[in-house]
Amino acid sequence: MDLGLAGRTVVLTGGTSGIGLATVGLFLEEGARVAFCGRDAHRLDSVASGFAQRFGVEKVLARRCDVTAKADVEAFADAIARWSGSLDILVNNAGQGQMTTFATTSDAQWREELELKFFSQIYPVRAFRPLLEKSDAAAILSVNSLLAYQPEPYMVATSAARAGAQSLVKSLASEFAPKIRVNSVVLGLIDSGQWERRFQARKDQTQDRKTWIADLAASKHIPFGRLGEPLEVARAIVFLCSPMASFITGASLEISGGVSRYI
Ligand code: NDP
Repeated sequence: MDLGLAGRTVVLTGGTSGIGLATVGLFLEEGARVAFCGRDAHRLDSVASGFAQRFGVEKVLARRCDVTAKADVEAFADAIARWSGSLDILVNNAGQGQMTTFATTSDAQWREELELKFFSQIYPVRAFRPLLEKSDAAAILSVNSLLAYQPEPYMVATSAARAGAQSLVKSLASEFAPKIRVNSVVLGLIDSGQWERRFQARKDQTQDRKTWIADLAASKHIPFGRLGEPLEVARAIVFLCSPMASFITGASLEISGGVSRYI
């Protein structure tokens, strides 16, 4: 199936690792031009030069931008207007989770988490909406977590913030219809940079990565017995953002290996 992405322009936040990195690669394989951001300039440069070698320098734009900084996001949008002058797809992916219970979450952590989960959507949507409105196949995709529907006691602030972000996706889908489609993916555990950092910080340093991941999957009762791969998420994102998903808006697609318990 031709997804109709050749020649389209994509902006993706958090494209230097894990799910974002896999998604940038897949959009490029489909013939799109992709701009992505992150905060670490060295990682941005090395990822961008790898993609530029594979797909051509004109297909890739990498920009340092913290999605929680309004001025950074506005400057990113200005750069896209100069680079491409058009935009068809925005993927709001940048972020991370906070492992705290209610008792261990400070006021500052609550504010940080709520700010990250909301403004990582609000700032890019505001900044890129004028360009998206000129597209004949505009789509916004929010990378969210199953925690939005199934909160975990060890991720209290993240779960609450995720639920709010999911509500925002629904509101935007209705307010922006029919011009811009707005969807989300809700993820279980995906073996990305986040889990690599948690593996490095594990208590029992004698455990190898394979055993640590297998134990994690068992402890979370994931029916597939493993974590997901970033590419398995990327495939769903690319489809939902493509013109092939033209009547899908306000939807959330769970990608979790069957770990959800709600109906
Ligand atoms: P990674 O840590 O592998 O990648 C995160 C990416 O986001 C990096 O490119 C990072 O670059 C960038 N990033 C983080 N914070 C910011 C910021 N404030 N501004 C700009 N860029 C930022 O994680 P994942 O691939 O797992 O995460 C992708 C998304 O999926 C996140 O929103 C995450 O919360 C969500 N998710 C992941 C799950 C999982 O199990 N992996 C489960 C549920 C949701 P840099 O650090 O250089 O800024």
